[in-house]
Amino acid sequence: MSPIPPLDLTRQYTTLLEADVSTAVLALLRSGRYIGGQAITDFEAAFASYVGNDHCVGCNSGTDALYLALRALDIGPGAEVITSTFTFIATAETISAVGAKPVFVDIDPNTFNLDVAQVEAAITPATRAIMPVHLFGRPVDMAAVMAIATQHNLLVIEDCAQAAGAQWQGRQVGSIGHIGCFSFFPTKNLGACGDAGAITTNDAAIATRLKVLREHGQPQRYTHTEIGINSRLDAIQATILQIKLNYLEQWNQQRAAIASRYDQLLASALPEVIRPTAPAQGKAVWNQYSIRLPHAGSATNGQQPELLRDRVRAHLQTQGISSMIYYPIPLHRQPVYADLGYGEGSLPRSEQVAQEVLALPMFPELTATEQERVVAGLQDYFAAAVHQASP
Ligand SMILES: *Cc1c(COP(=O)(O)O)cnc(C)c1O
Repeated sequence: MSPIPPLDLTRQYTTLLEADVSTAVLALLRSGRYIGGQAITDFEAAFASYVGNDHCVGCNSGTDALYLALRALDIGPGAEVITSTFTFIATAETISAVGAKPVFVDIDPNTFNLDVAQVEAAITPATRAIMPVHLFGRPVDMAAVMAIATQHNLLVIEDCAQAAGAQWQGRQVGSIGHIGCFSFFPTKNLGACGDAGAITTNDAAIATRLKVLREHGQPQRYTHTEIGINSRLDAIQATILQIKLNYLEQWNQQRAAIASRYDQLLASALPEVIRPTAPAQGKAVWNQYSIRLPHAGSATNGQQPELLRDRVRAHLQTQGISSMIYYPIPLHRQPVYADLGYGEGSLPRSEQVAQEVLALPMFPELTATEQERVVAGLQDYFAAAVHQASP
C-alpha cells in the first residue's frame, strides 16, 4: 500500500493548477516584471475583497506580516503583547524582534486557542496589544477578544497564518481586529510556491505605513523616513496566488468534509481519541485535524513513561501513515524564552496538550480510502494495546 503523507502538494498542482499556473508564470517571466507591478496590485485587491477589508499589503512571509504589523502600530521596546503560548514560534518571535515582550496566556484545551477568559489577568500598564492566533484553522472567539480590547484600549493583531477563510460569527478572520496577518507558506490553506504573506486592514494610514516599512522605509524612492526592511511579495508568487485564490473556498469545503468524515469514523470506532470540535459560532477551515491522545501512564522506576501519543505515532508510521506533532513545546517553555521565567507547570493546559496532540493527514485531496486507513491504523494500535494489557 502506498504511504499516506501528512500533506501532498503535488496532487492539486498536477490535477488542477498546472495548465493555468504554468501559462501565467511563463507570461510573467516573459514580461520581465518580477518585482512590483500589476500582478501584486491585482492580488492585493482580490485578497482584500476576499477577506472583506479595504486594504491588503503583500509581503514576503507570514512572519514578516506580523513584524510589519507590529511596527506599523508602533509597538516596540517597553510594550507588552498578549498572545497564546501554543502556536508557531513566529507569533512570539516577531513580538520580540520589534523589541516588545510577549506575554503568554494558556489555552482552552478544546480549541487549542488562547483562553480569552485569562487575557484580562495578563493585562498590565505596558500592554499595547493582543495577538490571537486562529490555530489549525479554528477561529478564536473574536467578539470576546474585541470586547476586552475595547474596554482596555488595546490593539488587536490577528495571526491568521493557518486560517485563511475561517470566520467568527459570519465575519472573516483578519477583518475583525485592527490588522490581520496571513502566511502563504505552501502548507497553509492558501499556499504559494515559495514564501509569501499579506496584511489586511481597514485603516488607510496603517496600509500606507505598511507599504513604506516593507520597502526600506521609503515613502518616495531614495527618501528614507524610517528604518524598514525589504519584504515585498514576488510577482511570481502573486501570479500563482491570484489563480489559487479562486479555489480557496472549494479547498476549505473539502477540508471541512474530511474533518467531518474523520469525526464520524473516529466516533464510531475510537472512544480513546479526543476529536477536535468545530466552533459553535464560527467556521473552521481545518489547516490541521489534531486529535488528543490523553496520557494516562505513570512513571515507573523513576523513568519518564513514553507518551501514548508517541507510541501511536510510531505505530502509524509502521503502516506507512505519517502524522505530525504541532507543537511539542509551548512557547513559554522554549529555551529562547527561559529568561521570561515561566516555570514548568506555569501554563499547564498547554503543556499537557503539547504531550497529547497528533495531527492526522489533512489536505483537500486526501481520499476517503486513505482516511479509512488512518483510522484503521489507530484502531489497530488500540486493539493490540488492549490485547497486550490483558493477562
Ligand atoms: C506559518 C505561520 C506563521 C509564519 O508564516 P511564514 O509565512 O512561514 O513566515 C506565523 N504564525 C503561524 C501561526 C503560522 O502557522
